[in-house]
Amino acid sequence: MAPSAARDRPRPLAFARHRPYLRAMLDFGFDNSYARLPDRFYTRLGPTPVAEPKLIALNDALARDLGLDPAELRGEEGVSILAGNTVPDGAEPIAQVYAGHQFGGWSPQLGDGRAILLGEVVGGGGRRDIQLKGSGPTPYSRMGDGRAWLGPVLREYIVSEAMHALGVRTTRALAAVATGEPVFREEPLPGAILARVARSHIRVGTFQFFAARGDQEALKGLTDHVLERHYPGAYGIIDLLHRVVGAQAELIASWMSLGFIHGVMNTDNMSIAGETIDYGPCAFMDDHHSAAVFSSIDHHGRYAYSNQPTIAYWNLAQFCSCLLPLMVGELDAKVEAATDVLKRFAPMFQNAWIHRFRAKLGLLTEEAGDFELASDLLSRMERNRADFTNTFRSLPDARGGFDDPAAFDEWARGWRLRLGREGASPEDRVDLMREANPALIPRNHRVEEAISAARRGDLDPFRRLSAALETPFADPGGNADLARPPTEEERVRETFCGT
Ligand code: AMP
Ligand code: MG
Repeated sequence: MAPSAARDRPRPLAFARHRPYLRAMLDFGFDNSYARLPDRFYTRLGPTPVAEPKLIALNDALARDLGLDPAELRGEEGVSILAGNTVPDGAEPIAQVYAGHQFGGWSPQLGDGRAILLGEVVGGGGRRDIQLKGSGPTPYSRMGDGRAWLGPVLREYIVSEAMHALGVRTTRALAAVATGEPVFREEPLPGAILARVARSHIRVGTFQFFAARGDQEALKGLTDHVLERHYPGAYGIIDLLHRVVGAQAELIASWMSLGFIHGVMNTDNMSIAGETIDYGPCAFMDDHHSAAVFSSIDHHGRYAYSNQPTIAYWNLAQFCSCLLPLMVGELDAKVEAATDVLKRFAPMFQNAWIHRFRAKLGLLTEEAGDFELASDLLSRMERNRADFTNTFRSLPDARGGFDDPAAFDEWARGWRLRLGREGASPEDRVDLMREANPALIPRNHRVEEAISAARRGDLDPFRRLSAALETPFADPGGNADLARPPTEEERVRETFCGT
């Protein structure tokens, strides 16, 4: 064999060191549509077993929603499956291949380097992927070890579940399991695995992988798969583009309305199903700052809070260009048609944005000046370092959060005049605002606190935070401390990719 061919082969995986898989009796009822796509969409391989799996958290409600029995998942066999030590009957484990633009730079081949898709289940809420993240090396691991440490696993568990409770479309967390093995970063850290649930793990980058290779047959197969799975009502390529653009416009508007910063909106981290995916260096901002960046590697603020709509648009342009080969007609005409769809992003985003901010301000009707009213409040919040979440939650008494209370009062006069033109009952308005303005978000310092305690073996802060975030719009009661912004000493300024 030529040396280059040997180099190109995936490196051998370290199965031999570990126990062989146990045979599972637990029935997930898998139906794996992605694994029925051609071989070049993935590599078939199982998770790498770990030394000593221990359940950290199980999402009972989600398990039930997937048609799984939480009690069985908590049992020895269930935990063994969630850790990747047992592959359940009906699973067809694969690592999916994709490409992507990372910080604008092109990577022709990425893929699941630390995740294995076990399969798909069709539960009450429709078809969902069950994926193990941190489950060992794959041919796409590049220099990585295929593992995750406890920190990012708990972070994704807390934040993705909080996003769901906040009404944002997102991947979910089914379980977190400790592996009993160290993961080596700058120091040895406790290893963990997240069982992630998603409508699918198909990304803009999945389309880019095949488009860049000129593999039209695969592009067509992937598109048909996505149409059937995610957009069954769509009637062709242009309509599919339109729906994906619309789903992202809604998604980004929901992030903006909560002060959420994804942090790493690479095209491989943008889901075609329109879910928030990949909670690496994400963060909710405390005080409002339009240029807020938390990710330690985002030096130029590409993925800053206020840049998110622009980046979504950029990513969607990549998606649209991937589908040009599947459209009929002259190239110019196809480009024009795709561009027309793309141009719809801005108005769709603005509509979704103002719809959410009207609710945040308690406005039940629409007036032309509403955008200016909301934007004016945001700029005053920024100048006054006012807390994003608490300012909205405590309208109309938010002046306390402003360095200069007069700046709030001045805005509030215009707001009250606007409210006066509504004719809505104060009760309806209060209900609307309470449902649009959460009391609780996963504040960075609380997430970090939960992770630090878990490293010491104390899971109580993680459990308390997760439980409180199940009802973020309720009055926090005994969890009022979780609604408090950080003090200067508590403030977390930087977040890290989840490797
Ligand atoms: P992310 O920035 O988290 O979206 O990851 C980008 C790429 O790096 C993906 O292809 C991941 O699978 C891969 N990757 C990240 N961390 C690891 C790791 N610890 N081992 C192997 N691959 C990784
Ligand atoms: Mg990713």
